[in-house]
Amino acid sequence: MKPETFYIKNYGCQMNFYDSERMGALLQEHGLAEVASADAADVVVLNTCHIREKAAEKIYSDLGRLRRLKEKSPAMVIGVAGCVAQAEGQEIVRRAPIVNMVFGPQTIQDLPAMLDKYQETGETIMRLDFPAQEKFAALAAQNKKFITRRAAAYLTIQEGCDKFCTFCVVPYTRGQEVSRRRDEIIAEAQGLRDAGICDITLLGQNVNAWQCPISGVGLADLLRALAQLDGIERLRFTTSHPRDMNDDLIAVFGDCEKLMPYLHLPIQSGSDRILQAMNRQHSVAHYLDIMQRLRAVRPDIALSSDFIIGFPSESDADFEATLSLIDEVGFAQAFSFKYSPRPGTPAAAHEAQVPEDVKAARLGEVQKRLAHHQRRFNEAQIGRVLPILFEAEHKGAASKHKNQISGRSPYLQPVHVAFPEDDASKNKSENKSENKSENKSENTSLDERTKSAFYGLCAPVLIEAAGDFSLRGRLLNE
Ligand code: SF4
Repeated sequence: MKPETFYIKNYGCQMNFYDSERMGALLQEHGLAEVASADAADVVVLNTCHIREKAAEKIYSDLGRLRRLKEKSPAMVIGVAGCVAQAEGQEIVRRAPIVNMVFGPQTIQDLPAMLDKYQETGETIMRLDFPAQEKFAALAAQNKKFITRRAAAYLTIQEGCDKFCTFCVVPYTRGQEVSRRRDEIIAEAQGLRDAGICDITLLGQNVNAWQCPISGVGLADLLRALAQLDGIERLRFTTSHPRDMNDDLIAVFGDCEKLMPYLHLPIQSGSDRILQAMNRQHSVAHYLDIMQRLRAVRPDIALSSDFIIGFPSESDADFEATLSLIDEVGFAQAFSFKYSPRPGTPAAAHEAQVPEDVKAARLGEVQKRLAHHQRRFNEAQIGRVLPILFEAEHKGAASKHKNQISGRSPYLQPVHVAFPEDDASKNKSENKSENKSENKSENTSLDERTKSAFYGLCAPVLIEAAGDFSLRGRLLNE
């Protein structure tokens, strides 16, 4: 029986989110329709991530639930993709024989062919090779097809990592650093622009290590070239490594207005001793120097970061150093996690593991400190006029507030704005007349249609209030 429907469950980071969207587009092109849950799907793909604690165990417990569905529908095809697939390989099929396809992050472009092959032969598919350039080339062609009414999109320019931080599995699961060609990236950006995208985030595990494999130019050159494209209004890149923040990349924040004044630059710890144990290849002083040079060329720049708390051998003094760094930088936002060992990484074998209760207490303190700075940063926007890019909500995130539109600030803060009076009242009266004529032929509500006129629009908003995670403001007439 030919499968007709599919469901993809995404775990983890933006790179995975990007891959899941591409897999969905590929399956749609192959004639399958997306459904909202695994129990209605003929094909289920778990796109896994190895970053979070006990990632593999979570996948096995999800597979346990899928086993019950497969008992009811034996023709269901189950695939495990992503970093856990790459790391566990055959072990997945040994522990969960219901799995029919196991494939790593670099082979997602072959998903329709893998599915056909499985249907034809009934043999388990195992694809754990690393053909990154093939992935880039194959996925560029179908980029426009999954864009609906969103104004922002990711564009992968780089995969893999050569840094080998001692806590991380990415160099083993995503392979070595591979950069995509400059001309292909620009062509893909043009395609996105033509499909209505005006805000592009360049994506890569070590995005600022990007270097065109043909010309050898770096990320600063690419950003300047993309900024030349009419219709592209906002550029960002993530995730960066401090070691690859070169002079030209710092300078581009000063000379490229379309590059947003917001940089995610993970540091992980405020202690040089811990940074060394992590093999981060940079010091705290180096990080602070980057920050100062960025602020010199772009005074309104804000930083976000990642922290790992309770790395093996982290002492009270190391932890205090992290708190001091947080206060010194005043991050606009940051992600923080308790250290958890990843099998096969050097840090997992370290003898001086920090007890769980100590890690939990330190994490609580760090998160309180980070929340304080985030709140302060948000409050500092009150009274400022920020350009807000309005966007349709992602699937499943319909707004609770009908007379409200939402967008993103240059710092990625969600900003909520009440409908301009005129539009709201017009909306109401049109709604009434529509009800009178009982015209039910349109599926889209007027509220949604009125809102959709704003999607993709970048407009000035006076910020009037700030919360922990979002801002509220008033649309200004230009
Ligand atoms: S830089 Fe370190 S943390 Fe980031 S992907 Fe590479 S090894 Fe992992």
